[in-house]
Amino acid sequence: ATPVLELVDLVAGYRTRQGLFGRRREVRAVAGVNLAVHEGQTVCLVGESGCGKSTVARTVVGLLRPIAGEVRLDGRDVTGLARRDLKAVRRQVQLVFQDPYASLNPHMTVRELITEAWRIHPGLVPQDRWDAELADLLERVGLNAGHAARYPHQFSGGQRQRISIARALAVRPRVIVCDEAVSALDVSIQAQVLTLLRQLQDELGVAYLFITHDLGVVRHFADRVAVMHLGGIVESGDTEQVFLHAAHPYTQALLSAAPSVDDWRDDAPGGEIVLTGDVPSPLDPPAGCRFHTRCWKAQQRCRADEPALEIRDTAHPVACHFPAPLPLVEPPVR
Ligand code: SF4
Ligand code: MG
Repeated sequence: ATPVLELVDLVAGYRTRQGLFGRRREVRAVAGVNLAVHEGQTVCLVGESGCGKSTVARTVVGLLRPIAGEVRLDGRDVTGLARRDLKAVRRQVQLVFQDPYASLNPHMTVRELITEAWRIHPGLVPQDRWDAELADLLERVGLNAGHAARYPHQFSGGQRQRISIARALAVRPRVIVCDEAVSALDVSIQAQVLTLLRQLQDELGVAYLFITHDLGVVRHFADRVAVMHLGGIVESGDTEQVFLHAAHPYTQALLSAAPSVDDWRDDAPGGEIVLTGDVPSPLDPPAGCRFHTRCWKAQQRCRADEPALEIRDTAHPVACHFPAPLPLVEPPVR
């Protein structure tokens, strides 16, 4: 089936200036990413801060225009669309941020926040249905119609995130991009919001591109995982498969350092892998493999040739010249 959301050789970034009179330089925070999200699926994009995850999120929802490559919705590239066509298409991909305080206007009631989406997209919900739809949405996210007249500051952090989710759902998206959407919440509240997201997925068939640095969350929430390092995906596959058989040294290091993950196959040098060496800057990425300055397996070849993520003939692609051996039986390609 055609993925509902697909990124094809996506390159994106921003311009920056070093010092007041410095030359403006282009930072390619996303340097050629390929990723597919299917209907009703949860794909987690995981990596350290600064790896380009949020730039992917901003590009996918249209806040940032890519430098090159495509963002496809149902197989159609939407990066070059004119503004008026874009609006209808963009409705299908909604973003939920880490901090609902920053994304919910504090001067608007819950009712205003949600019905605003219906004003922006007329025809979606007829006005005489607003109250019924609003009550239904609030129920779905574990709130109720009595909350509609309140303002964001009258809610807890977890409830505010439920409001953000309700607002995203209000326009009936196919995909919700969650950028560290539960990272600011206490662990027990995190679990509640994740359970809610799962339940909404079962009910509505919405897909998630879930961006996080938390491997514990990935382990329990993702169908597929893509590991991002310095602008590129270095390994991706079925969550189970990647956690049990991580093949890229960077994935292995991340897993070995995650306190909440203990079931990965440990074929790296004993115990926790502690990365040494310089963390390279996206302004000036190393030649060859972008991980070579920190990789304990790096060889001469790694400093010269950039390993490609071969996505075609495998369900578990790895961008490394010397990956850990994978099990012989691969799951079928989806
Ligand atoms: Fe390490 Fe070389 Fe693989 Fe890069 S290509 S991850 S440097 S072994
Ligand atoms: Mg980020």
